[in-house]
Amino acid sequence: MTECDYCGNDVYGDEPVFVMEEREFRRVETGAFCNYACLSAYIDDEGLADGAVCEVDVGEE
Ligand SMILES: [Zn+2]
Repeated sequence: MTECDYCGNDVYGDEPVFVMEEREFRRVETGAFCNYACLSAYIDDEGLADGAVCEVDVGEE
């Protein structure tokens, strides 16, 4: 079984979502979550998205 990094439940009991990061040009799995809700909560708790948003051009013509 693979435990959810957020809640610790088995991710395969739900709709699993996996996170990968690039490390030295290789993809390395760095997280497993039950679903996007656990992933989102984990990101909020860890502050992983703070100040890291890509600039999105919201198409004002
Ligand atoms: Zn979970």
